Amino acid sequence: MERKMWIGVDVGGTHTRLALVDQDGNVRNVEKVRTEIERGNERAVSQLVEGCRRQIEAAQSFGARVVAVGVGIAGKLDRKGGRILFSPNLPSMRDFPLVELLGNAVGLPVVMENDANVFGVGESRAGKAKGVPNWVGLTLGTGVGGCLIFNGKLWRGDDTGTAGEIGHMIVDPSGPRCACGQKGCLEAHASGTALVDGAKQLHREGKLGGSPLEAKLEDGVLEPADVYAAARSGDPAARRLFQRMGWALGLALVNLFTVLGLERAVIGGGVSASWDQFEAPLRESLRRHSTMLNLDRLVVDRSTLGDLGPLLGAAFVAAEEYPG
Ligand SMILES: [Zn+2]
Repeated sequence: MERKMWIGVDVGGTHTRLALVDQDGNVRNVEKVRTEIERGNERAVSQLVEGCRRQIEAAQSFGARVVAVGVGIAGKLDRKGGRILFSPNLPSMRDFPLVELLGNAVGLPVVMENDANVFGVGESRAGKAKGVPNWVGLTLGTGVGGCLIFNGKLWRGDDTGTAGEIGHMIVDPSGPRCACGQKGCLEAHASGTALVDGAKQLHREGKLGGSPLEAKLEDGVLEPADVYAAARSGDPAARRLFQRMGWALGLALVNLFTVLGLERAVIGGGVSASWDQFEAPLRESLRRHSTMLNLDRLVVDRSTLGDLGPLLGAAFVAAEEYPG
């Protein structure tokens, strides 16, 4: 019997990764290329096309056929029309027909999906949520992404494009300003951006005295990873930012668990690597806010798929739509 494989693509602002995934969900080949969006849309598409062609050749060397390509992209997408409406990683691709261009060039069906939904599919099939029918997913990165899985499937609501936008749930109406224009969204408390902006706010209030964050901020080089390193070394200001992150995550999850009648969540994304700094405040927040829930039954896990999660998820999205 002919062996089938799918290509999973994770498009980032700087780098794009591609993987070849077989029928058993094993990653058989991985490649990282520069996204090169700064050299124009055409160049960025040709990087993707060339990457896919190399994966197709790799599949042939395994005696397999590639059935379809799944592409995970951050931002607002028109899934049915195969268009990127807006992506923070590909800012020049507004209302851009990526699916058609890539599909025609590689001669394969292409499916595009929001990165948080890709995370959801990856975790459902191969990660912490494998076999769990109903759960909530959160990805902590530059922003906060989310997904809702009901009966093993992504919840899309009425296709308004906002289903699972947990990052923009307001957890404190008088809280910090969010990139979406509102105040006090979860994203404004629990993202990499929130860590850096929170440090800036403490600096303005004169509350960073003696903190290693102060020098980094004054040099204009503060990154979320610096806030994490400072928290690990016991810096009270950095710890406070992670306390706030955990508190907000716990509050958002209790709201979702209560309203939806759920008990499971998985948290992934690059900033979830600082799990040891926000887990305790998250669990304390769950405990304090969950009077209507059975606390012993709530399960909040950290994703263990790491870098491979988005690649697997994108390939699984393609395989679901094009089983071959
Ligand atoms: Zn927001």
